[in-house]
Amino acid sequence: MTPDSIAAMAGALRAGDRRALARAITLVESARADHRAQALALLDALGRDRQALRLGLSGTPGVGKSSFIEAMGLRLTGRGLRVAVLAVDPSSARSGGSILGDKTRMEQLSRDPNAFIRPSPSQAQMGGVARRTREAVALCEAAGFDVVLIETVGVGQSETMVAEMADLFVLLMAPAGGDELQGVKRGIMEMADLILVNKADGELLHTATRTQADYAGALRLLRRRLQDPDGFPKALTVSAATGAGLDAAWAEIEALAKWRRESGHWDKTRAAQAAHWFTQEVRQGLLAVLDRDPARSAMAALAADVAQGSRSPEAAAAEMLARLTKG
Ligand code: GDP
Repeated sequence: MTPDSIAAMAGALRAGDRRALARAITLVESARADHRAQALALLDALGRDRQALRLGLSGTPGVGKSSFIEAMGLRLTGRGLRVAVLAVDPSSARSGGSILGDKTRMEQLSRDPNAFIRPSPSQAQMGGVARRTREAVALCEAAGFDVVLIETVGVGQSETMVAEMADLFVLLMAPAGGDELQGVKRGIMEMADLILVNKADGELLHTATRTQADYAGALRLLRRRLQDPDGFPKALTVSAATGAGLDAAWAEIEALAKWRRESGHWDKTRAAQAAHWFTQEVRQGLLAVLDRDPARSAMAALAADVAQGSRSPEAAAAEMLARLTKG
């Protein structure tokens, strides 16, 4: 891409063109060095003046994430909001295909002109997924989306990553007995701003209500966080199938977002997140240097010396670090 075509893509993207957005996300996902340079030029050209509500959403497969996003997304677009959905599916890196990329998911929402849905790409490692998702979020914000929903399956590492780039984090849970509730990791509970017990309908209504009460009790035992007003984190029941509780859940999300904006926690959290990702990028970049020549050959040679016993691991490591920092 030439500088002119990057400028054209930036213009189309800022005008809200979904095709330009899709192409831009493909560009930031590319591992090619020339694409990387273009992606950075594009992100630079777009600026950072627009903000969406970045909403992290997690839950185990089958809990109803796609049903929830479809139902909630349609409500939001119905109110005139523009909604982007980005999926983070670390399991796709292993299987080679994307589970969250299933075409039949969120069928109605995907046809809504005010929605944009992007399935998870298959990527080799968490660092790559994190960067790709962060940049995709930035692109959606530049394209003027009001809400960017970052969806992930409930496997620890990806949840932490999503929580570290979201303004608010919602955990979707299934109605369950008390034993299962105890299986929820404390760390994951602590990340949640809102726990929504889905499938609160029909025969499951009673169990869902009990589960919600259990979670509410468990949340009360957690340490109160600075960035929370009274009553948060909260547990509520919803039904993606009937729509029950969805408006109430959105009202809570809006109330919390408003409180954080007004109290300054919103900006503070975003600033801390940006600093965190900066550090992560540098660290990852340094690790990548080790995998490329000349560092790679130097590492191999020193490792061979260490294996033969001609040098100690510490002395060899000190020499390697000295070489790297020599400039
Ligand atoms: P995901 O794997 O988390 O994305 O879950 P899905 O949205 O694909 O839903 C898994 C199953 O749960 C499907 O059979 C849905 O029809 C069902 N489901 C989702 N939401 C609800 C709900 O609110 N009530 C009921 N009864 N079933 C639901």
